[in-house]
Amino acid sequence: MTDVWDVLVVGGGPAGAAAALRAKQLRPGAAVLLLDRDDFPRDKACGDGIAAHGRDELGLLGLPDLIADYRPTQRLSVISPGGVRVSARVARPNHVVPRMVFDARLVEAARARGVVVRRHRVRSLTSQDGRVVVDGELTARSVVAADGAHSTLRRLLGARPTPERHTAIAVRGYADMPDDEDAQLIAMQRAGWPAYAWAFPIGDGTANVGFGMLLPTLHATGLPGRQVLHGRLAELLPHLPARDLRAHHLPLSPGRPKPGVGKVLFAGDAASLINPLTGEGIYYALLSGRLAGEAAVLSAGDPLTAYRRRLRAALGRHLLTTDVLARAAQSPGFIDAAIATAARRPEVFDLLVEVGLGAGTVPAPLAAAVVSRWIRTNLGARG
Ligand SMILES: Cc1cc2nc3c(=O)[nH]c(=O)nc-3n(C[C@H](O)[C@H](O)[C@H](O)COP(=O)(O)OP(=O)(O)OC[C@H]3O[C@@H](n4cnc5c(N)ncnc54)[C@H](O)[C@@H]3O)c2cc1C
Repeated sequence: MTDVWDVLVVGGGPAGAAAALRAKQLRPGAAVLLLDRDDFPRDKACGDGIAAHGRDELGLLGLPDLIADYRPTQRLSVISPGGVRVSARVARPNHVVPRMVFDARLVEAARARGVVVRRHRVRSLTSQDGRVVVDGELTARSVVAADGAHSTLRRLLGARPTPERHTAIAVRGYADMPDDEDAQLIAMQRAGWPAYAWAFPIGDGTANVGFGMLLPTLHATGLPGRQVLHGRLAELLPHLPARDLRAHHLPLSPGRPKPGVGKVLFAGDAASLINPLTGEGIYYALLSGRLAGEAAVLSAGDPLTAYRRRLRAALGRHLLTTDVLARAAQSPGFIDAAIATAARRPEVFDLLVEVGLGAGTVPAPLAAAVVSRWIRTNLGARG
């Protein structure tokens, strides 16, 4: 029985599993405990889209083939709020893997690497002699809080929750779709913008379909959430009737995430690391979890300083970019201009994918080209 855990991870989603896997990869002798309130496999409301960048992270965690049995998706079609369409081959394929499968595989890989996995819902945190005590019974040198969008640990530590204006809500379901369909579809909606529906074929005769919007916009309708979310999904994808509908909040990145408090490091949704332009969070969860696991074992004396530095080096400029773009994207005309530019220039399409699904930033000349197109279109519309 371990008296003091080197790393205690709360949450067995992609962020928590990555933290535990990385800690054991770097220090095989470390005592690493992974707690989750659920047993795995468990479902998680998600679009199940795993960007190529997420696959890179799996490679870094020593699991390059974890999802190799799922078919890569080669094409992406986007319809802008004003109806501008772009459909192109992506530079690097994405994958769609149900979270019921993906998360269970990650947790199983962690267990196989020597991580102790237990079902346990964390309710309290205290500190004693420079260590963290969880629920009065489990002591750790450092803790990774990877407990998702409604992070209990974040609340217990007094860190502010993600403000409502930076929070989205989305519903996902599954629909029948021919096996040979391999284009991911994103259909944006002008009403209640920013809002969009998606259809992500899995390759097994089904697709993950869903619809998401900002929480304040949903509240402004004055209607029950289910009615709005289910209704808009059915309206935007009438040919893909969905079953197993399930909704969840998305804490969007506000640009500068809070990396933790004391010896507790926030990762994934608990750190509000969801791309505000696309709602993508799995890559950022894997990346931040990996960096938190690294800091916890390599800089045990002051893991927070090490983690902050690593996170800033990996994502600092990208998060500022998406924050600025998300503000500009409040105007649907800006997105129309960006998609219209991407439809004419393949390198812009690739760059938008990098910014929306990876760690990309926008070079100044391109930003200027999109803004000038946006202004010309606006002036044209007014004139
Ligand atoms: C509808 C929807 C669609 C989305 N689509 C996509 C997509 O297609 N691609 C993409 O990249 N991202 C998508 N996202 C975002 C993505 O789902 C999240 O960013 C991702 O799940 C974050 O991983 P995580 O490990 O931080 O948290 P989670 O996956 O939420 O895992 C948190 C874990 O913590 C556990 N937990 C919580 N509280 C406690 C506690 N007190 N004690 C112990 N355990 C606890 C939970 O049981 C859970 O297993 C979508 C989100 C939504 C809601």
